[in-house]
Amino acid sequence: MPISDVQVVVIGGGAAGVAAARRLEQASVRCLIVEARPRLGGRAWTVSDANGFTLDLGCGWLHSADRNPWVSVAQELGFSIDKTPPPWMNRPLESSFSRVEHGKFREAFQTFYARLDEAAQGEADAPASSLLDPGNRWNPLLNAMSTYISGAELDRVSLKDLDRYHSTDINWRVLEGYGTLIGAYGAKAPAMLDCPVRAIDHSGKRLSIETGNGAIAADQAIVTVPSAILAAERIQFIPALPEKIHAARGLPLGLADKLFISLDGAEEFSTSVRLFAHTDRAATAGYHIRPFGRPMIEAYFGGRLAADLEAGGDRAFFDFAAAELADALGSRFARRIKPIAVHRWGSDPFALGSYSFASPGLADCRAKLAEPVDDRLFFAGEACSRHDFSTAHGGYLTGVAAAEQVIAARSTSRSSAGRSPSA
Ligand SMILES: Cc1cc2nc3c(=O)[nH]c(=O)nc-3n(C[C@H](O)[C@H](O)[C@H](O)COP(=O)(O)OP(=O)(O)OC[C@H]3O[C@@H](n4cnc5c(N)ncnc54)[C@H](O)[C@@H]3O)c2cc1C
Repeated sequence: MPISDVQVVVIGGGAAGVAAARRLEQASVRCLIVEARPRLGGRAWTVSDANGFTLDLGCGWLHSADRNPWVSVAQELGFSIDKTPPPWMNRPLESSFSRVEHGKFREAFQTFYARLDEAAQGEADAPASSLLDPGNRWNPLLNAMSTYISGAELDRVSLKDLDRYHSTDINWRVLEGYGTLIGAYGAKAPAMLDCPVRAIDHSGKRLSIETGNGAIAADQAIVTVPSAILAAERIQFIPALPEKIHAARGLPLGLADKLFISLDGAEEFSTSVRLFAHTDRAATAGYHIRPFGRPMIEAYFGGRLAADLEAGGDRAFFDFAAAELADALGSRFARRIKPIAVHRWGSDPFALGSYSFASPGLADCRAKLAEPVDDRLFFAGEACSRHDFSTAHGGYLTGVAAAEQVIAARSTSRSSAGRSPSA
């Protein structure tokens, strides 16, 4: 079968696309990943620094690791899993956040999530910020957490959707990088890279996938591009699918960006320490000192802060972090740090953001986005996941689910084609 004529085209080669393609291959369905970037992985992207340390610019944590399918993929491919507890499970650096104050914050955090659980049982949805205790001293920090968790402040986030997220609170990492892992799993699937899809024409008997390198005919397609790409109509559906676009618009991508910083004299700190520079504002970064024991700091910026810094360019992230670290650790600290790498996911033309949240009132858009169209167009990607959205394992699970739907649809159409008209 020529490459311009396949059974199933998988649009996008991130976690969902790679998982879908591998599942289709297992079922002997000939598929092709068509990926806009020159690499697989999408929002899973590992680069190396000058010392050969792997840096995950996108996803880094195997969240819900005890039920995360990427863990068995990692084991199968011989990757090393690091089970050091994540910094947010440790007490933060005492000088940045006293034990007593941190205890009070944890209490406020738990109270907020208990309220969320209760409110989510009701009929009505609302912004998660409606559950904040007015005037509470910890509201700004709860909002900062929301920018790391959802990529957006609580006023933009549906409380029902936030409550639907399931976590087992087991979080591991892959030493070689989460992006390396997903790319390696995808390497066995046929893929066309550097090949953005511009349109999907589903008006004819077969699909025509219009790409930068010409059209590809296919029986079916699994669309795994980020919800923000669909919402911005970077891919045109012919005929149009206004309900899909509406669903994608209900699931905007929040913004979270990472900056890696080298640190001289890192041994002063123990491994995997968390530092809070400010506890009285939402516009503050999260700092993870010595991830994997390495001489570096992983800084995490979310929400409106990340959007403002993206507008200022890469250097703005380092300048902001240097100023915050100086506030927390003294002005001489700035001499010990240098920027290594950052990626601006909001400005990334094939992501347009970091991970999805649902706007208030629109939590059910996840199910609507995931619905197939005419048993020919299938949808996957983290935004389609009811309980594991915003994650790479959510991407995997939706990719496999869409592949299963394709397999089922193909076997139904085969059996009805095989039936004789008189039967
Ligand atoms: C900074 C950051 C930190 C994160 N941390 C974590 C974490 O610790 N743990 C975790 O589980 N998750 C984390 N995530 C989220 C995780 O990376 C994503 O949820 C997951 O990778 C999404 O996979 P996906 O397949 O749904 O989408 P994507 O990975 O975005 O894949 C979609 C693919 O479609 C491609 N594409 C786009 N447009 C086109 C087009 N027109 N034609 C063809 N291809 C196209 C894209 O290039 C991309 O490769 C993080 C994300 C970011 C940005």
